[in-house]
Amino acid sequence: MTNTENTILIAGGGIGGLATALAAAQAGHASSVFEQAPQFGEVGAGIQMAPNAMAVLTRLGVADRIAEFAVFPKRLVLKDAFTGEELTALDLGDEFKERYGFPYMVLHRSDLHRSLLEACESNPLISLHTNTTITAAEENEDGVFLINQHDEKIKGKAVIGADGIKSNVRKLFAQDDMVNSAYVAYRGTIPIEEISEDAEMDDVIMWIGPNLHVVQYPVRRGELYNQVVVFKSPTYTSESVEWGTPEEMAQVFEGCHSKVEKALSFINKQIRWPMYDRLPIDNWTKGNITLMGDAAHPMLQYLAQGGVQALEDAAKLADVLAAHGDNFEAAFKEFQEERIPRTARVQTTARQWGEIIHAIDPITIALRNDIFTKRPANDFSYTDWLYGHKRSLVTQ
Ligand SMILES: Cc1cc2nc3c(=O)[nH]c(=O)nc-3n(C[C@H](O)[C@H](O)[C@H](O)COP(=O)(O)OP(=O)(O)OC[C@H]3O[C@@H](n4cnc5c(N)ncnc54)[C@H](O)[C@@H]3O)c2cc1C
Repeated sequence: MTNTENTILIAGGGIGGLATALAAAQAGHASSVFEQAPQFGEVGAGIQMAPNAMAVLTRLGVADRIAEFAVFPKRLVLKDAFTGEELTALDLGDEFKERYGFPYMVLHRSDLHRSLLEACESNPLISLHTNTTITAAEENEDGVFLINQHDEKIKGKAVIGADGIKSNVRKLFAQDDMVNSAYVAYRGTIPIEEISEDAEMDDVIMWIGPNLHVVQYPVRRGELYNQVVVFKSPTYTSESVEWGTPEEMAQVFEGCHSKVEKALSFINKQIRWPMYDRLPIDNWTKGNITLMGDAAHPMLQYLAQGGVQALEDAAKLADVLAAHGDNFEAAFKEFQEERIPRTARVQTTARQWGEIIHAIDPITIALRNDIFTKRPANDFSYTDWLYGHKRSLVTQ
């Protein structure tokens, strides 16, 4: 292994970890990224990148590369999963782009991750290491360390835990458990030809219903169609093992609209993703060690912001690392002071939005749909706080 002593050690090479390495390099710091998997990579599904992510990707110098593989949808649309009625839409056209400074983009996760990885590989300040499971982080009178699966200590200048929702670095700050939402997701992409007559190429569609939703959008220049099927298991308990099965999916979606039924028929039923988050914490920084991304603030995916918030974190890290030089303690304190309130709000709002779209009570549904159907597609009052956050932070 190359000498890491003069580098920032980053645990985890997902979207957050790689973006952090690029951000650190922009601030003039060398970094070493440690990934547990034998290869850097991402799962085979899509990801939405709102304008607040596009701003960071532009700043990190990877937006043009990523745009080559992306799709730029014209609308975000909510539809009733049973009647097929369009309930509301958000127009992503010129007014939206002007307001938030950047477009809304959807793409295959591997295209995003690969573009970040290639940028890291070609940056002399970044060294990348696979097959390294980080079990802990430590700071003592000898310095700052990551500890790997062989109990070896890796020394660095500072540590950033970007090791996802099951983060080991997080254990320094919180002993909290992941919260099981009792929802599961099934997801994947299919060749566009398989579903072409039903694919809405200009829209990101979210079909919503009691305890369920389905998301659909094209990715990879429109060559693939991404689908995510999400529902609450009727049998989940904290002891259950067999829950959220394909049989339950059929039961929960019984009577749904024919287009939703078709979506279900194409979904890969082999891999089940239980949906977890955690409650916000009020400290994730100690000395020269901090957290970012899902390690710091894992959220339910309903606002499509987990990865985006990891990118916002990276932008703020670039700022504080540039401002404080090798005073990492000061840098990380400033980082969390700004990022904790922001990410906590996104975490808690994601849960609330889940309750709204998954509502089961008929009166709540009627009131919700009344509000939805009355708002114009260019009403941005609900999204300003999210997509319009601190444009200066992410475009410096
Ligand atoms: C169904 C679903 C849909 C979603 N849709 C969106 C969306 O549209 N838009 C969006 O912005 N977000 C979305 N998200 C959230 C998004 O996927 C995450 O927030 C994002 O991946 C977080 O990035 P991260 O790098 O912090 O963590 P991760 O992606 O979890 O990456 C962590 C990395 O660290 C590695 N690692 C873990 N533990 C260790 C260890 N001990 N040692 C070394 N390496 C380790 C992992 O292998 C991985 O490579 C969605 C999530 C789900 C589940």
